[in-house]
Amino acid sequence: MFSRREFLVAGLGLLFFGGKKQGQFVLTINGKVAASKLGKSLIHEHFLVDFVGADKISSTRWSREAVVKKVLPFLLEASQHGVKSIFDCTPNFLGRDIQLLKMLAEKSGLQIITNTGYYGAVSNKYLPALAFIESAEQLAEHWVDEFENGIDSTTVRPGFIKIGVDAEAPLSELHKKLINAAAITHLKTGLTVCSHTGPAKPALEQIEIIKKLGVHPSAFVWVHAQTETDRQQYLVAARLGAWISLDGIGWGDFDNYIDSIVSLKREGLLNRVLISHDAGWYKPDEPAGGEFMGFTNIFTEIVPRLKQNGFTKADLNQLLITNPAEALSVRIRKL
Ligand SMILES: [Zn+2]
Repeated sequence: MFSRREFLVAGLGLLFFGGKKQGQFVLTINGKVAASKLGKSLIHEHFLVDFVGADKISSTRWSREAVVKKVLPFLLEASQHGVKSIFDCTPNFLGRDIQLLKMLAEKSGLQIITNTGYYGAVSNKYLPALAFIESAEQLAEHWVDEFENGIDSTTVRPGFIKIGVDAEAPLSELHKKLINAAAITHLKTGLTVCSHTGPAKPALEQIEIIKKLGVHPSAFVWVHAQTETDRQQYLVAARLGAWISLDGIGWGDFDNYIDSIVSLKREGLLNRVLISHDAGWYKPDEPAGGEFMGFTNIFTEIVPRLKQNGFTKADLNQLLITNPAEALSVRIRKL
């Protein structure tokens, strides 16, 4: 006989192991997709970034046709490596352009996911004026509104929250407000919080802040974790449940990535690791968008090295398919 409590625990266990992915979904720019249909995913890339600043940015600064012409061959190249989904990490006020994303998704056949949130890194140059004066609750309202009603008068909804903080601890009051707003938004939407951060100290500080609001660290992606040189810190954050995003693979230093990924696997924490290139991107200020970095180093440089280090197909699927689906499916994660 089960006691009521044992029965509940057994039921939860069944839910966790038996039905883990059932009902889980990801929000692409073309709507809900079952998490099991996300496929091989790149969780942090860019198609266009405009660093002109929040006060000057406008989609009139680029021609969508010219951007598509430049970017599409790189998307098709990623497709040839089996990529099915790409998370576009360009935030609002840095060139997030829904019409452009729709064109790219349609022409490439890829599932593209966009974001809501504000990027405070680089000393707040990309924050809109209201970010300085409104409260965390008010900022969250704008992001929840995009989730509920669509972005820029379209029906396209964000699939995750992207914020950015400076690489310093303690965080500035303004950046504390951004992570608070992200946690509030998570509790109302179930969107995962991806925070451009860098070193461990501000990452761990953000994890503490979301925990205070009752959000489980598994709803937090520590973006650009590769800039932290003390790998012990990855273990600390991963054991809390946060996602360790080693996402600058477009920029080289492959052996360092391998060492990090191998050491996380050795500690039994491969199920907390995300990898991507942070590659791209069309630059409106440069002739024909400037130089573009493709989305293939993972397949040509990293996967062969991981195989040499004993990674199985199941390990690789975990990194490129299971973890992205688990990290970025939309669901509220409370402590
Ligand atoms: Zn990025």
